[in-house]
Amino acid sequence: MEDLIIHNAEIWTLTDTEAIPCGWLSVKNGVISSLGSGDPPPSSIARAVVDGQGKILMPGLVDCHTHLMEYATLEVHHTQGKAQRMAAVSNLLLALQSGIVATGEHHLGHPVADMPMEDYRMILDRIPMNSSMAYGCCWLGFEPKVLTSATRPGKAFQEDVLTEADFLRMAEASEFPGENLFLNYTCANAPLDQAPHAGEVTYGAQKLAQIIEIFHKKGKRIGAHIEGDDSARRFIECGGDVIHHGHALSSEVGTLMAQKGIKLVLTPVAGTSQRPTSPQEAYGFYRQGIFLALASDAYIYPHPEADWIPLPKDRLAGPAQFLSIVGSTLRYFVEQGVQKSEALKLITVNPRSLLHPSESPGFLQTGSPADMILCNRLPALESEDPADICVVITEGQIQVDRRI
Ligand SMILES: [Zn+2]
Repeated sequence: MEDLIIHNAEIWTLTDTEAIPCGWLSVKNGVISSLGSGDPPPSSIARAVVDGQGKILMPGLVDCHTHLMEYATLEVHHTQGKAQRMAAVSNLLLALQSGIVATGEHHLGHPVADMPMEDYRMILDRIPMNSSMAYGCCWLGFEPKVLTSATRPGKAFQEDVLTEADFLRMAEASEFPGENLFLNYTCANAPLDQAPHAGEVTYGAQKLAQIIEIFHKKGKRIGAHIEGDDSARRFIECGGDVIHHGHALSSEVGTLMAQKGIKLVLTPVAGTSQRPTSPQEAYGFYRQGIFLALASDAYIYPHPEADWIPLPKDRLAGPAQFLSIVGSTLRYFVEQGVQKSEALKLITVNPRSLLHPSESPGFLQTGSPADMILCNRLPALESEDPADICVVITEGQIQVDRRI
């Protein structure tokens, strides 16, 4: 007996095959066991049956760069102490309700989110999402400059106190190449005039190469917060793997990234002191053959110059705004002739393969994890409203159901 059968759905597998206009899909033990067009075979029975009512069934959304468990617990919920754990759960639940089945979380040692590294994983283990953790250190471009680190949570330093042992611990614990280090000082969520050093480069080539080597020796890929060509070139030359943000990068650096197979996690809403990557610039990188994923960097205020983002600039954008953050970029890709299923990969299978390189990237096919959404309209391309995502399924179970 199957655990779940969904029938009468328009199935967007995101594989190379065309969408199935009316089909069915079955799930067993959290994995897609079979799918096809028309009705399921008469012999198939399941514990739960969902009539898709002609809605769209597709892989769940993946946001591979978020901070829902650290500073958002303060900035969104104003929580301290143990209540921060509840705030982290609340933020992750909102992501799940918004159709996001996996996030790439960060622990950068925010001074207020005073949780040890292990607690983050313990919280994630209780949430029915396939989220991953990256551990890192963060340089804030305030006056004076401030350093925080996952290895020394709850503390802020005004000089570089990190040793090889700190980076070893980050490398060992990190589950994906996220914002493991900041190659440019960040303004975080502060206005730019309060962060006069934002954008300055943090590490010289020698130190950077040492840190990257520590990650690689542990068999881990490394990601970095980067803006501008100088730091991107330095990161690439020192052997780095994944550029996060990558705002204000030239097409020359794009060529280098394509040649070296460097992956790019774009945050179209904000994230550095520079104007974020516009839909047109993102399309340019896509045409250069760079592996792209789009992410929210939630929670964050939209950058003042990100005029393609239809969100108020004075309100923190989070998981419920994910589709508004990525929508303009994905629609621009489709306007330029990119297939809709190809554009949707930037918020589904691409970020998932970054988080879980050894697993199936989440196409709807036999053997893939059953992490799916049932929607009224194609997310981001046809609707930015998370309420159009009617059902969210992870681990083969219905976790969110708006039909009731
Ligand atoms: Zn970030």
